[in-house]
Amino acid sequence: MTPIDKKIKVLECIYCGIPLLSKKESLRIEKETKKYPDNGETKDHVPQQCLYEGYPSSYKENRFTVPSCHKCNLDFSLVENELRDAIGISNEKDSFQNEITESSVKSILSRSDSKSRLIINEKGYVSGVEFNLDTLLPSHLKNFKGVFYKIYGFKVPENFSIHVLDTKQTNYFESLAIKFLNKNVEWKFSGHEDIFKFKISLIKPDENGLLIKTENISESIGILCQLNYHKRFKITIIAFEKSLIMK
Ligand SMILES: [Zn+2]
Repeated sequence: MTPIDKKIKVLECIYCGIPLLSKKESLRIEKETKKYPDNGETKDHVPQQCLYEGYPSSYKENRFTVPSCHKCNLDFSLVENELRDAIGISNEKDSFQNEITESSVKSILSRSDSKSRLIINEKGYVSGVEFNLDTLLPSHLKNFKGVFYKIYGFKVPENFSIHVLDTKQTNYFESLAIKFLNKNVEWKFSGHEDIFKFKISLIKPDENGLLIKTENISESIGILCQLNYHKRFKITIIAFEKSLIMK
């Protein structure tokens, strides 16, 4: 084989698409400038590591990572505790979750905006904490992109528009997606299935216009995905090929 036959595959950040500077080169720059470069290669855990807080190490086995630039990895780390907090604060007598709950309470109370997030009842007791979808959205999108990369080996193509469905509303697309995934796809895990499991499928219409599963992205018109965190938190994500969306 001549050198020209060797295809050099440049690794990209699966979130922003920037070509990644190798770890070796990044470490050399860090040594020189005291700063790890923004486009330096890192391995990002899917889902975020904080969801395993307090669980035995056996729960953390076989977690997967995806290639991410240093900047995306850092940016996500600033928002991903939100999901941990949402899970921890709704702990339902699961002793493994005590550590997560403790971290959640600390983290919520240490924020300057914590008052607006706590739901206080008429007696003045804290009866709950409000999380809005917007603050959890980055985590769901990130985990969707991570799961997609893990299964298909490349980042979600730019011509797909990604939508996280609102958990408070039932809608036609959600029941369609869940029904399709239940019929066609097995659950897969990262770490223990009680912490994080997912189903994902590319879809295309058959000759009668019915949606069927495909493995080929170029003929796919959409992506259906379910994420399940800690058994109770179920998120449905649908991505459509952009040309299908009416303007
Ligand atoms: Zn990036």
